[in-house]
Amino acid sequence: MARCYQEFNPAAYLQYNYTPPRADFSRNDSIVPWKLRCLHEAFTEGDVGGETLLDVGTGPTLYQVLSGCELFGRVVLTDFLDVNRRELRRWLGDEEGRFDWTPYLKHVCKLEGRGPSAWREKAARLRSVVTEILPIDVHQPSPLSPGALPSPGADCLVSSFCLESVSPDLASFTRALGHVSALLKSGGHLLLIGALGESYYMGGPGVRIPVVPLDEAQVCTSLRVNGYTLIDLRIYTLPPDMRVGVDDVTGIFFAKAKKM
Ligand code: SAM
Repeated sequence: MARCYQEFNPAAYLQYNYTPPRADFSRNDSIVPWKLRCLHEAFTEGDVGGETLLDVGTGPTLYQVLSGCELFGRVVLTDFLDVNRRELRRWLGDEEGRFDWTPYLKHVCKLEGRGPSAWREKAARLRSVVTEILPIDVHQPSPLSPGALPSPGADCLVSSFCLESVSPDLASFTRALGHVSALLKSGGHLLLIGALGESYYMGGPGVRIPVVPLDEAQVCTSLRVNGYTLIDLRIYTLPPDMRVGVDDVTGIFFAKAKKM
């Protein structure tokens, strides 16, 4: 799998998945608004909190921490690839050529019932609470370097489209979930987003990355065998016009679970 990622192109990946129609904020049935709503609701139900939020396999994207950054004083981003960690640093450092997350910031502020100019405060908040952008390998029993997190683990773990996109089969997916779960404290929450029925996605022009096709039952079983109690599971089925030829995903799952 590591070889498949050598040619991963962050700019192309962002263009394929994080611009319209998949990120069309005027539509409720567009993929990104659905994901942002799930995250917003999961983070505002009152049961999630603490000091450290860990995002596993952040990639070049920041949408998945836009709600959580309001609740945690320390947000740790991680990715296997240096090109993705650099892309994140470009936005955090307000550097030239950064991806424009403004429509995302505005949309999440709207979900939070905040006024039209609050997005600037959210951007500043995110820039202030992201304390680290670390290398990670979910196939290692200790995915982060030792001492990267406080010893009981993170209070909350988010991961979106990572585990199934880096695992050759279901056993590897379940094992990787076990590895990252060791980074979460007991009683902590996991918010896991991923692809259903997907066998590949494009990580750039001509860069075909294999994915383990999952179904809902397999996701639930992997969570259970890794010691989670499922709190919420939501499924999104892609409308035909979201199938834009950059993958063969049929649906998306959003799971909120508690580590027992
Ligand atoms: N989280 C982002 C999102 O929601 O769009 C990116 C998901 S992308 C499909 C999969 C990510 O997994 C890529 O950023 C890739 O660099 C990362 N990755 C590849 N191999 C990995 C590994 N062994 N451990 C952790 N992450 C890995």
